[in-house]
Amino acid sequence: MFANQQKGNRRPGIPCPECGFFIEMPLEDLLYKQEFKCPGCLLELRMDRSSSQKALELLQQVKVAMDDVKKASDFTR
Ligand SMILES: [Zn+2]
Repeated sequence: MFANQQKGNRRPGIPCPECGFFIEMPLEDLLYKQEFKCPGCLLELRMDRSSSQKALELLQQVKVAMDDVKKASDFTR
């Protein structure tokens, strides 16, 4: 298990269900990509829209929250 990347880092991504490797990717990709590969164990993760509905809703909430943060802190990014 790679748990070393989960302490307070707010980088978007998901931990691999197989090896625990934290797969970094933009929230947009998480939301809209059909599948992606874990760089740690090369497991192919497939987003099953119907069965991961709850997870997707959660991600969408996170994204909304992040957009709000972006709006609130309108720096150079
Ligand atoms: Zn993996």
